[in-house]
Amino acid sequence: RGKSEGRNIYRFFEPGMDAMVRERRALEADLEAALPRREFELDFQPILDIASGDIVGAEALMRWRSPSRGLVPPEDFISAAEETGLIVQLGDWALRKACSVAAGWPQDMRMAVNVSAAQIKSGGFARSVVSALAFSGLPASRLELEITETVMMDESDTVLRTLSQLRGLGVRIALDDFGTGYSSLGYLRRFPVDKIKIDRSFIRDLDRRDTAAIVRTVIGLGTELGITVTAEGVETEAQLDMLRKAGCGEAQGFLIGVPAKASEMSRLLRSQASMRRSG
Ligand code: C2E
Ligand code: MG
Ligand code: MG
Ligand code: MG
Repeated sequence: RGKSEGRNIYRFFEPGMDAMVRERRALEADLEAALPRREFELDFQPILDIASGDIVGAEALMRWRSPSRGLVPPEDFISAAEETGLIVQLGDWALRKACSVAAGWPQDMRMAVNVSAAQIKSGGFARSVVSALAFSGLPASRLELEITETVMMDESDTVLRTLSQLRGLGVRIALDDFGTGYSSLGYLRRFPVDKIKIDRSFIRDLDRRDTAAIVRTVIGLGTELGITVTAEGVETEAQLDMLRKAGCGEAQGFLIGVPAKASEMSRLLRSQASMRRSG
């Protein structure tokens, strides 16, 4: 490549963009160092079975407690971890940690773990899951893996094989953020899932007639297909009421519970279990 060409390419980087690129590189370097320093944590958000009123499990949500940056939410670091490939190791850590925590919960409480497309594409993911289950002693049926449509968009053998291996193990697969992608319905035909999680943007606008119609239709679709439907981002009694009337299976959101530390979640689950025994 000639010198002049190189100069032309360089011109695309405006001063502000240069700063953005440098900040991104710094973030990636910090992230890389954060894993051996054990700066990552998991919080757990409860999931409600609407009909019975019982908490039936929780979703593990990652946080980064950085000494220099403070508490960083996943939206600010997951994509960087995906770009550098660190997500494979980081996701593995989250999986093992979440399985260990769930193994200490009362029986039949499920743990949901978010999984990035890059983890599944990496090839070794099914083995990682087998290892995390064996290491923790958690039965496969109590683990639920949340994937997004970006995983399903990849029609490669690796992805389809990995997903069927996981289901073969007895692990449940949930389609997260349902409705925000391009062709959600197509994916339901390509690969069978156990659960659909309706994205919280739909729940937020549930007071709109068109949105309510869409949500009711997705719940009906789940019922027809024998798939559990979970509503994300439930914040008000009115939303929960509407979902109950529409026959929605599960709800998750600030109304039911905000993400909590492992110890707090354990306490909540144990007190519910003992109330059920005595009640
Ligand atoms: P998600 O899997 O859809 O998780 C739900 C997000 O909605 C969480 O944000 C949760 O705190 C938030 N949320 C729950 N209930 C409510 C509510 O009632 N109102 C509002 N406004 N928000 C609510 P969080 O923890 O910031 O996570 C954001 C996203 O980051 C997750 O979306 C997930 O895609 C990703 N993520 C989190 N942990 C992991 C992880 O361990 N691995 C991977 N690959 N991604 C993760
Ligand atoms: Mg999720
Ligand atoms: Mg979601
Ligand atoms: Mg989301």
